Amino acid sequence: MIGIVAVSHSHLLAHATVALAGEMLRGQAVRIEIAAGLEEQTFGTDAVAVSEAIAAADSGDGVLVLMDMGSAVLSAELALDLLAGDHRVRLCAAPFVEGLIAAAVSAAGGADLDEVAAEASNALAGKQTHLGAGAGSAPPGTSESEKVQRAAEIAREIEWNGRGFAVAESGPVSRAEFVVDNPHGLHARPAARLVGAVRGLDSSVLLGNLTTGTGPAPASSLSRIAALGALAGHRLEVAATGADAAEAVDRVLALAARHFDEAPGFVAEVAPVARGTGPLPASPGIGIGPSWQLAAAQFDTADLDDPGRAETPAGERRRLDAAINRVRAEIDRLRLTVGTEAGIFEAHQVLLDDTEVLDAVHSRIAAGTGAALAWARVLDDGAAELDRLPDEYQRARAGDLRAVRDQVLAELTGRATRLVSRAGVLITADLTPAQAAVLDPAQVTGIVLANGSPTAHSTILVRAHGIPAVVGAGPRVLETAAGTTVALDGQTGALVIDPDPAALAEFTERAVAQQHQRDAALVAAGKPAVTRDGVTVHVAANISDLADASAAVRNGADLAGLVRTEFLFLGRADAPSIDEQEQAYRALAEALDGRKLILRTLDVGGDKPLPYIEQAPEANPFLGMRGIRLTLARPELLRDQLTAIGRVAADHPVGVMFPMVTQLSELLAARHILSEVVPPDIPLDIGIMVEVPATAAKTAAFAGHVDFLSIGTNDLTQYAMAAERGNEALGSLADPLDPGVLHLIDTVSRAATGRARVAVCGEAAADPAAAPVLLGLGVHELSVGPPSIPLVKAAVRELDSTSCRALAARALTCSSAEEVRALIP
Ligand code: PEP
Ligand code: MG
Repeated sequence: MIGIVAVSHSHLLAHATVALAGEMLRGQAVRIEIAAGLEEQTFGTDAVAVSEAIAAADSGDGVLVLMDMGSAVLSAELALDLLAGDHRVRLCAAPFVEGLIAAAVSAAGGADLDEVAAEASNALAGKQTHLGAGAGSAPPGTSESEKVQRAAEIAREIEWNGRGFAVAESGPVSRAEFVVDNPHGLHARPAARLVGAVRGLDSSVLLGNLTTGTGPAPASSLSRIAALGALAGHRLEVAATGADAAEAVDRVLALAARHFDEAPGFVAEVAPVARGTGPLPASPGIGIGPSWQLAAAQFDTADLDDPGRAETPAGERRRLDAAINRVRAEIDRLRLTVGTEAGIFEAHQVLLDDTEVLDAVHSRIAAGTGAALAWARVLDDGAAELDRLPDEYQRARAGDLRAVRDQVLAELTGRATRLVSRAGVLITADLTPAQAAVLDPAQVTGIVLANGSPTAHSTILVRAHGIPAVVGAGPRVLETAAGTTVALDGQTGALVIDPDPAALAEFTERAVAQQHQRDAALVAAGKPAVTRDGVTVHVAANISDLADASAAVRNGADLAGLVRTEFLFLGRADAPSIDEQEQAYRALAEALDGRKLILRTLDVGGDKPLPYIEQAPEANPFLGMRGIRLTLARPELLRDQLTAIGRVAADHPVGVMFPMVTQLSELLAARHILSEVVPPDIPLDIGIMVEVPATAAKTAAFAGHVDFLSIGTNDLTQYAMAAERGNEALGSLADPLDPGVLHLIDTVSRAATGRARVAVCGEAAADPAAAPVLLGLGVHELSVGPPSIPLVKAAVRELDSTSCRALAARALTCSSAEEVRALIP
């Protein structure tokens, strides 16, 4: 007896249809397998599940597959590619409900595959006769499946012979020629527009390059279009078949006439502009050097280890799909943040959906290759093809392929893309914290991010490395050719690409002057920072690894006021053991040579996801499971970390602080775990980060339970101003000197006086303009990136605490950060 497979987007629909068919069968047995929905409640289809269902339904006589619409059809087709072994399978275009019932009844009667398929296909006949032929339906011969089938047949009649498309007499084909006049030809972004323009039409569309003879390339495949090598001035032919052929060709011609929606020319110089509307200052210092980008592949195919590899091709397909979906979501996020200039990400997005690429990867997986290696090989081949193109600009588009390659590989392997530092100014879309953490300041003279924001964690790490940087420069900077000289000022946000000799001389002069200032401050950095009227301010270091700890000592840190321990956890496939953590914290304590070490417990979530912690997707991760919320939900992580911290506290001066505390109950729960793993006689300062406005307002409730409060102005500002810290479009809003934020700091300081010490460890602490205001509000510890310590100490020595208090009082009456900044001498 033949078997039947029901493929539907809906689990419920498929089960209900099979139950209905069961009513007709009256107890006769028919093998019907269901592959429907991604889970019970989630609509979708999965090719792997379909192929497994086909194998299960086949008793040797063949299988008829019925599908609902859209991707159910695609999944069923893909399932045939994935199917191992010998199976006779027929995909049937019959209507899902009527067809399945008719097929089940006829299979139960012992019909063979052809007969069952014919029965299913005729299943609408009864209804049509009853309602009158054609009632409410499309004219004969235009059902979706017939259109698709016809288009495929016609496509076979078109042949590319290098000089044009040769079309069989009978084929109703639309054709036209057009000239590419985009300055850089049909590279990834215009090609992405082209793919988008013909998507969804009932038509097969092919392109060929008449100038070079290259082709044909399906208009649905970004990688193949890019490989046409279509440069400015090249003549291309487009040929389309199917019901919408004319429409498809019209759309391509209209798009070509609009230069594929690409603005003419490229602005080489990005002038400094106001905060929030262009390059933003992100890490002080002058950076000059030849530009380089993260174009080269960051994952080496030769030693691609993939710890999560599944045992079956089906499992590998699922992992690949999940990884691609995560990358797609991330690119969506980036596209939203860059607004109208999102073309580069559009191209990346289209590459993820490229059917040519996916088909090739799927075939490799079906043949037994792991998802990571299959993905890497196919993308490498595509990039190599682009590498061979004669035009330099188009060759550079291989970088887009490699970027997408690496993003998916990073998701699959749980490893951050490995960033190999090169000499000069790094220009890239954005950096992950894990990438920023491994930048080598000896090589990288500056950083320009197309996206990014001054308080994103990656920017904080860049600042900790002392690398001058500007962020939010817009995607056009990504078009800077490798090796072009770039000059930037991370203090003002000025950025000049390919500066003329006069501009270059000016930047160089400023760099020399700043270096002198730093050298002078460094001489006195080891001494305490005491105001002119004798108030001592502790200037501490924010650190995340051993190199930072050494830099902290070199730059004169009084203590390490914030150890971001999460960087020990990031970029790994599993959590570090207690012993590993103890070793790492002990090494930091030893490097600090007797200075106190404030270890913050794991602060992941938000923009610092951990690959090995399963987290449900969140619409607003910064308002979700981060910091102490996450570690209290996974108490084993907190317990291990506190155990390791307690061991180091036994012989070094150590403090521990909890991030993102919002409720007193959270602090008490964390303290309870601490009391279980650290003996009471171990000296350990205990504190919380004040990052949530509600916590600041409730300081009095916390003050009796802690030794210190450390105000994290990065998060406090983002939550108080409702301006996400990673969103460069909101750069001007997220200013910690906004009086609204200053009032919160004032509240903390007043409620804590005499009960707990108050520090600031957000980036505001390193802002020379903010220092007098913070001191005036009663803050006595500033914790900053190591390179900033000498200048912050020098600035404190110039201050007078009485004047700072007067300044702070006036700042609290201002209506904007600009007004506050205007008050500062
Ligand atoms: C802060 O929020 O200001 C802070 C110091 O913590 P992080 O930047 O690591 O979130
Ligand atoms: Mg924070």
